[in-house]
Amino acid sequence: MSLPNIVAIDGPAGSGKSTISYRLAERYDYLFVDTGIFYRTLTLVALRHGVSLDDELALAELAEATTIDIIPAPMDSHHKSHVFANKQNVTDYIRTSEVEAAVSTVSAIPGVRRALLEKQRSVAKKGMVIMAGRDIGTVVLPNADVKLYVDASLEERAQRRYNQCIERGEDVNYEEIRAALARRDKIDTERTVSPLKIPDDAIYILTDGMTIEETVDEIGQRLEMWQPA
Ligand code: C5P
Repeated sequence: MSLPNIVAIDGPAGSGKSTISYRLAERYDYLFVDTGIFYRTLTLVALRHGVSLDDELALAELAEATTIDIIPAPMDSHHKSHVFANKQNVTDYIRTSEVEAAVSTVSAIPGVRRALLEKQRSVAKKGMVIMAGRDIGTVVLPNADVKLYVDASLEERAQRRYNQCIERGEDVNYEEIRAALARRDKIDTERTVSPLKIPDDAIYILTDGMTIEETVDEIGQRLEMWQPA
């Protein structure tokens, strides 16, 4: 079986693409790169440094100056990867509600995207990579061997997020989760630079009503059936 060397997976927040990509990477021995981590890490650093979210120049400079290292986590860890910003471990801080509320604004800044683009491409150079994000098939890796767009309705994504939070014992409100996802979708799809969209040559997978395992199996079959051009 010859597997594709570079797999690009895009989709909206909460579509399950990170979990699906992680499982596929485990099954087929790929390196999984979740590019949302780059944007989350930069947003965290900006918030910690007190940089205003309106200051596009300062945020772009910060993106250039910040070293971001993502290391696959050991199997017994509850994280998929460990994340370092300027050599400091920030893994536990990139998924807070403060970061979630600001990340789409930071990600919409052209200078930020330019700086992080090179960092993402250099990780993919090693090959045997599954990279997930919003603009991987369209901008970061337009020559990927296989492109997938993993989608789910807003209601389904909100319900999944809500269930995850409840399982973790968090006190959350479904309507608030739904509104926060809708806000991120709007910023991610309407921004001028590298908006979230379905690449022309992508395989589209709507996961409403599908379990993670079903989706992983379906995409796994597509990877196994892949033929070099
Ligand atoms: O995938 P995740 O939800 O962790 O991504 C967080 C945010 O980072 C997204 O809402 C989006 O604004 C931004 N992002 C992006 N381009 C990517 C990956 C993430 O703009 N390739």
